[in-house]
Amino acid sequence: MTKVALVTGGCRGIGLATTELFLEHGWRVVMVDRDGPELRAAAGRLSGVLPVEADVSIPDQVDRMIAEAKAGFGRIDALVNNAGVALFSRAGRTSFQDWREVMETNLDGVFLCTQAATAALAETRGAIVNIASISGLRASTLRVAYGTSKAAVIHMTKQFAVELGELGIRVNCVAPGPVRTKLAMAVHAPEIIAAYYDAIPLNRYGEAREIAEAVHFLCSDKASFVTGQTLAVDGGFDAAGVGLP
Ligand code: NAD
Repeated sequence: MTKVALVTGGCRGIGLATTELFLEHGWRVVMVDRDGPELRAAAGRLSGVLPVEADVSIPDQVDRMIAEAKAGFGRIDALVNNAGVALFSRAGRTSFQDWREVMETNLDGVFLCTQAATAALAETRGAIVNIASISGLRASTLRVAYGTSKAAVIHMTKQFAVELGELGIRVNCVAPGPVRTKLAMAVHAPEIIAAYYDAIPLNRYGEAREIAEAVHFLCSDKASFVTGQTLAVDGGFDAAGVGLP
C-alpha cells in the first residue's frame, strides 16, 4: 500500500522540499497551492503527485481539496499544513487588513484543513504536521501578526492532538528557523539576516530539506508515540535565546 501525503503550499520552498522528500521515500503527494501556474509547473517536473489548486483559507476550496485527494489517490496518511504568508511590520503600523491576511492563511488555513482531513486521516490512523516558526516561540520586533499566528499554531497543535488521539491521529508541529525561500527573502532585510547569523549557534540559515526531514520523521512510524509536540529545527536559535533587533 502506497502512503499518501497532502502538502499545502507544496509547490515551492519548504513545501516543495517536503513533497520531493516524501516522493523519494515512496509516498504519493497531493500538492496543494493557490498559485496555479507555479503549482502546475512544479507538478509537471515530478511524478507521483496530484496537483490541486486551492486556497487553504476558503472553506469550500478546502473541502474540494480533500475530495479531490480522496478521488485521486484514495486515502490520506499525512497532512502537512505548510502554506503560510509573512508580513513584517511594526505593531503600531500593522493594518487590520494585513493582520487578517496573515491570520487567514496561517491560522484559519491550519484549522480548516485539519478539520476537513480528519475523517480521511482517521481511516488510516494518520499524522498531521503543522509548520509554525521560531517566531511563534520567541517574540521580536516586526512580527506581531506573523509571530502571533505561529504561536497560535503551536497551541492549536496541542488542542488537536488532545482531541484526535482517540482516532489514532497524531498531531505535531515543526518550528523552522530561517530558510532562504521566497517568503523569507521578501521580509528578511540585510540587518535581519545578519542578526540571525549572530543569534544562531550553527551560524547559518537552514535548508528547506532539513525542515522536510523533520516533517517526514514526524509523519513516519518512527514517531508513533509522539504527539502534541513542537520540534524547533533552527540551528539552536531558540536554545541560545539571543534576541533579534
Ligand atoms: P514560500 O513562500 O516559498 O512557499 C509558501 C507556499 O504557500 C507558496 O507556494 C504559496 O503560494 C503558498 N500559499 C500561501 N498562502 C496560501 C493559501 N492561502 N492557500 C494555499 N497556498 C498558499 O514560503 P516558505 O518559506 O517555504 O514557507 C513555508 C512555511 O514555512 C510557511 O508556513 C512559513 O511561515 C514557514 N516558515 C518559513 C520560514 C523561512 O525562513 N522560510 C521560517 C519559519 C517558518
